[in-house]
Amino acid sequence: MAIEDTKVRLVMRSLAVSAACPDCVQRSSRVHCYYQRHLTDRPVAGRRVRLDLRARRLVCGNDRGSHRTSAEQIPALTRRHARRTDALTAQLTDIALFMGGRAGARLSGRMAITTGKDTLLGLIRALAAPQSGP
Ligand SMILES: [Zn+2]
Repeated sequence: MAIEDTKVRLVMRSLAVSAACPDCVQRSSRVHCYYQRHLTDRPVAGRRVRLDLRARRLVCGNDRGSHRTSAEQIPALTRRHARRTDALTAQLTDIALFMGGRAGARLSGRMAITTGKDTLLGLIRALAAPQSGP
């Protein structure tokens, strides 16, 4: 962990022995490769929080699937292609619902969260969009 004037950086890795494939839900512990993933989390003590995650791509054990590998997702922390944690997304969604785009972006800035009105409005629109499951 590194604490700077305006941000906190956490270096993380998953300790789970296996993970469920997001495509077919089959569990796997065979690592295909590692890669760096960067996520933004809710601020701490007025500082932005960046998670530097050593992510894993796992070999899927399902021979009938259309995929051979899948990126490990950590429950309640990561989602496919997401650049922020679920907790930060929930917080921004609440801000967007209560404040709207422009005022919400200003409030977020005061809370050490960098975002824009279009992002906040997109979160509201995403609530109405149908959820895509595995
Ligand atoms: Zn799979």
